[in-house]
Amino acid sequence: MSKDKSAKIPTPQPVRGTQDMLGDFADRFAHVVETFERVRRLYGYKRIEVPVIEPTAVFARSLGETTDVVSKEMYSFEDRGGESITLRPEFTAGIARAYITNGWQQFAPLKVATHGPLFRYERPQKGRYRQFHQLDAEVLGSDSALADAELLVFADQLLKELGIAEGVTLTLNTLGDAASRDAWRAALVEHFEAHRGDLSEDSLTRLDKNPLRILDSKDAKDRPIADSAPDIDAFLTSEARDFFDAVTAGLDAAGVAWERNARLVRGLDYYRHTAFEFVTDRLGAQGTVLAGGRYDGLIEALGGPPTPAVGWAAGIERLAMLLADDVIDNRLDAVIAVEDDSQLAFALKVIAAMRGNGLATEIVATGSPRKRFDKAGKIPAHALIAIGTRNGETYANIRGDSELTTKIDAIIRVL
Ligand code: ATP
Ligand code: MG
Repeated sequence: MSKDKSAKIPTPQPVRGTQDMLGDFADRFAHVVETFERVRRLYGYKRIEVPVIEPTAVFARSLGETTDVVSKEMYSFEDRGGESITLRPEFTAGIARAYITNGWQQFAPLKVATHGPLFRYERPQKGRYRQFHQLDAEVLGSDSALADAELLVFADQLLKELGIAEGVTLTLNTLGDAASRDAWRAALVEHFEAHRGDLSEDSLTRLDKNPLRILDSKDAKDRPIADSAPDIDAFLTSEARDFFDAVTAGLDAAGVAWERNARLVRGLDYYRHTAFEFVTDRLGAQGTVLAGGRYDGLIEALGGPPTPAVGWAAGIERLAMLLADDVIDNRLDAVIAVEDDSQLAFALKVIAAMRGNGLATEIVATGSPRKRFDKAGKIPAHALIAIGTRNGETYANIRGDSELTTKIDAIIRVL
């Protein structure tokens, strides 16, 4: 066989709807995660990790067969042992499963937070991916409206600290307790039945399986019918009304602005009381940046004890896209140019001390010594340190803003 050097090995292409990240976007992504990690600690949320893979039943049973996610978006496969596995399309169901199987009831109320990749078989487009990432916060085992309010204040502070709260609105609704919801649902079915002929194809299916979902239909055909449907207010029990009032009172006390959106539903059967979305008009069709609600029926639907819970999730990519251009300063504190190879050991001692003192530092010690200073100057940093020998003496010249140079000088002086 002749060796054909020109025959190239084809490079496997990435899976559609996945992203590689480097540079600016990767920095933005990391900034969102770091800010989340800092803020969740302020609210006493514990870090939690759950598997990327779960038995398919975890999602099929909890999300319900009629949701978009379960009916057409799940990445499910049979593994080598013949078990049906699904790549998690969301965090909540996996966390609820973990709560039951680990007996975490003993820690109730349990406040947890996590972030990581999720998978949905969607049509890829700007801001919509097949592997995407979310921040997630949940409170398991609390039936207090204070938990809902605190969770929302946490979300609000996160968006403020990310600098994207402007132009983002918290929209809020209540889905009531089981009694309110059932009465409302019956009234909705009656209303939609009367307009059956004018509903979209999708909404006709929803009418049988999940009528609440027609309320937030994006189909123009459905909008007038959805907009004229009755609000839940006339059907709220006094307990459900008190609960909603307590949530909004908590928000008002914390100074969090909110708007009622009586059309907002989280379509799943296990949702109760609070439902919310933080929406923006800056992302075109993908306007929801953070969404969640109270899901008192979920853990029971997974075979656990009746457990009230509330939570939210936010798409990291969407938050990263909303960050202002100037929020990320990825400049190093300092760069060292080693202008004389005989000073390499000293320069390595300096850089170790700098990093040991929490200063992000890089070193330029290769290539022509005469060119190293210019090379170092091109690396974005707050200070530039030139280390070399003059008249047989070691020097370390520091340039940069005075506070930082004073700090660096103090570090080098004691070496
Ligand atoms: P949408 O109406 O945009 O499909 P959803 O109701 O499916 O949203 P959730 O399941 O509530 O979304 O997820 C919460 C957040 O996760 C969304 O507001 C969004 O920021 C993000 N998200 C959801 N799906 C994707 C995706 N395919 N790609 C990127 N981010 C996503
Ligand atoms: Mg979706």
